[in-house]
Amino acid sequence: MQEKIDEIMGEIEKAAKKSGRKKEDITIVGVSKTKPAELIDEAVNLGITDIGENYVQEFCDKYPKISNTNKINFHFIGHLQRNKVKYIVDKVSLIQSVDNIALAKEIDRQSAKIGRIMDILIEVNIGGEESKSGISPDGLDKLISDISFLKNIRLCGLMAIPPLNATQDELCDYFRRMRKMFDVLRERNIPGTDIKHLSMGMSADFPLAIEAGATMVRIGTRLFGERIYI
Ligand SMILES: *Cc1c(COP(=O)(O)O)cnc(C)c1O
Repeated sequence: MQEKIDEIMGEIEKAAKKSGRKKEDITIVGVSKTKPAELIDEAVNLGITDIGENYVQEFCDKYPKISNTNKINFHFIGHLQRNKVKYIVDKVSLIQSVDNIALAKEIDRQSAKIGRIMDILIEVNIGGEESKSGISPDGLDKLISDISFLKNIRLCGLMAIPPLNATQDELCDYFRRMRKMFDVLRERNIPGTDIKHLSMGMSADFPLAIEAGATMVRIGTRLFGERIYI
């Protein structure tokens, strides 16, 4: 895994340079869905500080088996049902997949209950896919303003998952549009927000995403190997 991390780091450094940044400006989120706690421990021992999980049940089962959870920033990056927020609100430092106000309100409510403010990203359905989660770009402004009234949520930026079958050109276009939305949001300086994360780019396309301005990349396969779903 050390070798894989070195390779990924090299590519991140190159892409960051192209966009006038340093590799330290990019956060790697190691995406560990379907992978055992031991592999998370290994990644963390090699310097990975942020771990992303997709499924509440799997995450909660694994959580007690992971060493030093207090030293890891866990991100929730999968589709999140309202009734499951309560199981993760004390474990994660960032929920990246908020795409509707009802979910945001439940995160706010559960966070208030345990006396914390939860950092969140809004997931944007940049490819306009019917089947995908994420708010459409048209609905983004309304969701941002609705969320800005919630006291126990801090909006920290945007997340996107482009369509799986997108061409390089399409990907570039999606990433650039996300960057524009992110810049506009940051420049609005909405009270109570701290717009600093643009989470886009996965194993196959993270250099492109970084060149377009991603501050956070979510890397599964390249780090942990192919996933086997059973
Ligand atoms: C699984 C997943 C990833 C990682 O995908 P890889 O292609 O394995 O790097 C990133 N983001 C989200 C939201 C995911 O569900």
